[in-house]
Amino acid sequence: MKDTIKKLINTLTFTDLPIRNKFILFSAGALFWLVVIAAIGLIVLFDINAKSKRMVDIIVPQEKTANIVIRKLRGASISAHKIALYKDTERMNIHYLNGKARLEDCRSYLNILLMGGRIKDYSRGTGQFYNEFIVIPLNDSEKRRLIEDVIAKVDNLEKLLSEMADMKFGKANMEVLQDKLSEYDLLTRDTVSAINDYAISIDKEWKEFTGIIKTRLILSIMLISLAFVVAVMLSGVFGLLISRSLAKPIKAIITQIKALSTGEIDLTKKLDVTSKDELGMLSTEFNKLMDTIEHVTSFKKVIEEDESTDDIYMRLGRIFIDDLGLDNCVIYEVADNKNAMKIVYPPEAEGVELHCKRDIQHDCGLCRAKRTGHTVSSVDYPKICKYYVEGLNDMHVCIPIIVGGNVGGVVQFVCGKRGSCDMADIEKKVSRARQYIDDAQPVLEAKRLMKVLKDSAVKDPMTGLYNRRFIEEVYEGLISGTNRRGTILGLLMCDLDFFKQTNDTYGHDIGDAVIKETANILKKVVRGTDMVVRFGGEEFLVLLLDIKSGDAVDVAEKIRERVEDMKVRVSGGFIQKTISVGVCEFPTDTQNFWEAVKYADVALYKAKEQGRNKVIRFSAEMWAEEKY
Ligand code: GH3
Ligand code: MG
Ligand code: MG
Repeated sequence: MKDTIKKLINTLTFTDLPIRNKFILFSAGALFWLVVIAAIGLIVLFDINAKSKRMVDIIVPQEKTANIVIRKLRGASISAHKIALYKDTERMNIHYLNGKARLEDCRSYLNILLMGGRIKDYSRGTGQFYNEFIVIPLNDSEKRRLIEDVIAKVDNLEKLLSEMADMKFGKANMEVLQDKLSEYDLLTRDTVSAINDYAISIDKEWKEFTGIIKTRLILSIMLISLAFVVAVMLSGVFGLLISRSLAKPIKAIITQIKALSTGEIDLTKKLDVTSKDELGMLSTEFNKLMDTIEHVTSFKKVIEEDESTDDIYMRLGRIFIDDLGLDNCVIYEVADNKNAMKIVYPPEAEGVELHCKRDIQHDCGLCRAKRTGHTVSSVDYPKICKYYVEGLNDMHVCIPIIVGGNVGGVVQFVCGKRGSCDMADIEKKVSRARQYIDDAQPVLEAKRLMKVLKDSAVKDPMTGLYNRRFIEEVYEGLISGTNRRGTILGLLMCDLDFFKQTNDTYGHDIGDAVIKETANILKKVVRGTDMVVRFGGEEFLVLLLDIKSGDAVDVAEKIRERVEDMKVRVSGGFIQKTISVGVCEFPTDTQNFWEAVKYADVALYKAKEQGRNKVIRFSAEMWAEEKY
């Protein structure tokens, strides 16, 4: 029910129509009412005009005719009196003829009144022309009867007039003549009164007409007022509803934008989309924008808490592929020495079909995006990069990742052959991917910096090996892991023999080269999970993880042999060195880590004692003291 009412209100307030159509419809509504008001006014005006025309064309001539007939009757009456008055036959005859003519005029006018025709009014006495007008035939039977009655009376008057004239000629008795005159007067009064009856009936009709016009006028004024009030009310109500439907979402959007600018926004709270017009679309787009911002901020938070740059690359790769639908993506990272570039996404790069020549991985300056620091897109310029392998896929977009002002990596997107992918769609996806890259950049930079800082604290810059501090940080974890797994941790304390002599004979630089070369041998001999620590000047501690009893001596022997074979170039040839190694096993020899280090050192001392270039396994009798 509530929904139906809401739907009805939405329809009435044109909520779902485009804003332009809303105003067109609103104006059309206003125009409709204007037309209604004008139509009522015009209908009434035409009606009144028709009625007045009828009054002017029919009733007025009828009334005029009646008045003329009365005037003529009075004239005839004067003629009758003059007949009686004058003794002179000639003058009497003139008056008789005048009276007769006036009565004939009366009859003629009355006949025109009945049949219709033109009336020319002029004075019989002076001959003066008064008026000329047209009379429409009389339809009303009642009025026709009245006029016919008057015509009969005029006939009688004429008869009386000629009788009076005859009497006059016959010298009739004055008394009889007076009687006739009285009879004539009586008949004239009677006739005038009959015409008056007719005039009264016309007057009635006149009054009727004016009454009708008056009521029509009042009715039309009422109708126009009503239409006006309805129009004002409707336009007020609709105007209010329409402006409310426009203002409400705009206000909501403004509030959200303000909250967004001050950072006090709850990004999960969305705007209500109440219409399908432009404002509805604006709200939907705004919600999408908030979604993106939320996604990006949550993404930033998540990667900030990621452990390493590798985790961030993985996350980026997954977002590009799973969320954005860019199904072919490779992320390269520029190595610390800045010459090489390695694939960090996808994780198993071996199985991935690469689109760039392998050279770029050894010399990253060949990669156009790395070299220029600009986005390289074959969408805009086909064949833009000569290290992109042509023929596999035509379209590629390579975006540099800027870390600390330099290009720290490159993200490459590849899409199907030209024409087979929706370019607008790809560009939209790539621009969203760029947003994620932009957000990841400072975090990647911070993580790299952290790694450098951490490395500088726990690593020896000359050899790249861990330093003593590293051991202090990790030894607890190492022994607990070894104990948990029930394995053995091998400790090899290695020290170059007669190293002082090397320094003295060849100088410190050659001494350093020997140390570096020895470090390389140590790194190569042990497994990736083992740890090589520069413990002192030319002293190294090797930690062998998860070994079996006896393995440590074998590894130590291997180290000794490899160092023995090592050749370091000096001017005029090369030098060779030997190394002595003391071996201890944890927890076989002791359950204390630092004691194990000491025992390895004791064994090393024994190796030196026994002539150097030797591997000596620690044994209990070598250490008689209670504590190291
Ligand atoms: P041995 O161990 O066989 O008893 O004799 P050695 O000559 O090696 O004796 P020792 O361990 O006492 O001497 C170590 C020398 O290594 C002392 C120091 O001058 C030198 N040394 C230590 N650190 C460095 C370094 O970083 N570079 C160079 N060139 N020499 C170093
Ligand atoms: Mg030494
Ligand atoms: Mg030494």
